[in-house]
Amino acid sequence: MKELKVFTTVKEMQAYAAAQHAAGKTIGLCPTMGALHEGHMTLMRAARKACDVVIASVFVNPVQFGPNEDYDKYPRQFPADCEKLQAEGVDAVFHPEPQEMYPEGYGTYITVENGITDVLCGARRPGHFRGVATVVTKLMNITRADKAFFGQKDAQQVAVVRRFVADLNLPVEVNMVPICREESGLARSSRNAYMSAEEKKAALVLSRSLRAARAAYEQGECRAEVLKKVTADELAKEPLAKIDYVDLYTYPALQATDNVTEPCLLAIAVYIGKTRLIDNIILG
Ligand code: AMP
Repeated sequence: MKELKVFTTVKEMQAYAAAQHAAGKTIGLCPTMGALHEGHMTLMRAARKACDVVIASVFVNPVQFGPNEDYDKYPRQFPADCEKLQAEGVDAVFHPEPQEMYPEGYGTYITVENGITDVLCGARRPGHFRGVATVVTKLMNITRADKAFFGQKDAQQVAVVRRFVADLNLPVEVNMVPICREESGLARSSRNAYMSAEEKKAALVLSRSLRAARAAYEQGECRAEVLKKVTADELAKEPLAKIDYVDLYTYPALQATDNVTEPCLLAIAVYIGKTRLIDNIILG
């Protein structure tokens, strides 16, 4: 089996990417924060299908975390991540230290200002998408990606990435991969590791509430208010669940709407104990 190449400096990563392009190969980038699970692997597989060379990044990006968020306790398990990437046949992983990405004097940030970062997670996590847009732009430049792969799990993130890639004329094709779930329905997430067995059981209410909304939609219910209420009512049945938001917007424009008459994102963020989980479905 071929060796997974590990790069920790921008210079080495760019040199590897340039050599791949010089050899006529296309590059697929899968940005992650590590603590890799099967959901991340679906991105690697999509990249493998579409590109000659697959580069994963493993970087817990300090700039996208708020001061009271879980940056310090976010799970870091790089050796185990490498084993998974190697087993998946990923060609290279970029794993820089924060200093390498944001050295002394660093001063440039990307902000998307058309309103799509003012809703959902953008409204609850000020500065989050500024951090995401900045790091993803840097990762695209560092890996010279032709295509980049993101999960629908973070559907707003995909909308934001599509927007700045188009606005800044970045020569990268953005691909969205469906949500990978455990058999129970729980969307796979690195943050699931924070939960106790009891909390994990309670967390099934997220996917259950979205299934209830989908069932209502499939029976002809198109009113946003009703679809949100069906979701919230189901969530309210679980005593350990505390709703952060239940919202519905057109997708990917993320405009408010009264009725589902075009593709819409029904998105939820829910605290199970101290763990904040997100999930979503696209209707229409
Ligand atoms: P993260 O490491 O959580 O920042 O996620 C890295 C990438 O993997 C993002 O594009 C996520 O949307 C994607 N991802 C995470 N969990 C899943 C999942 N359960 N299904 C599909 N994609 C996922």
